[in-house]
Amino acid sequence: MLGWSLKKVRCPFCGYVDQRVLDSRPSLEGDSVRRRRECTGCGRRFTTFEKAERPRLFVVKRDRSREEFDRDKVMNSLLLACRKRRIPIEDLRAAVQRIERDLFIEADEEVPTQAIGERVLRELRRIDQVAYVRFASVYRDFETLDDFIGIVNDVSGRATIAV
Ligand SMILES: [Zn+2]
Repeated sequence: MLGWSLKKVRCPFCGYVDQRVLDSRPSLEGDSVRRRRECTGCGRRFTTFEKAERPRLFVVKRDRSREEFDRDKVMNSLLLACRKRRIPIEDLRAAVQRIERDLFIEADEEVPTQAIGERVLRELRRIDQVAYVRFASVYRDFETLDDFIGIVNDVSGRATIAV
């Protein structure tokens, strides 16, 4: 399974780095793995807990300020762009998942805000032509998804978006 490697650790008694794993089981909460180990150097036993670290991704705006990546914002901007279009919600969820996965794979902890906008554009181009043009025409002039959401809400408060 991805993320759970049988890493060697240092024996807390003698410092040796080789053990036999006697027993391996998930913790009660299910978010970590508890292993009973026996040091092959001194023969003593100890327990380790392995926990997968939740990766974090930060979005860097042009003014260099940062905020944590928020998949809900991506979803909201897709929903806005696709408003009144007959697009299954699963398609949008899948798009958000692809965007998030790609960002976590390609980015190293930080990603410029434009990279998210470009990915949203790419997904929309595949999903729906009207939604794509709608997003592109508004987004291109703005900095972030927040701006997009803000401006579309503002515009649609007065009239419908003309596309
Ligand atoms: Zn030892």
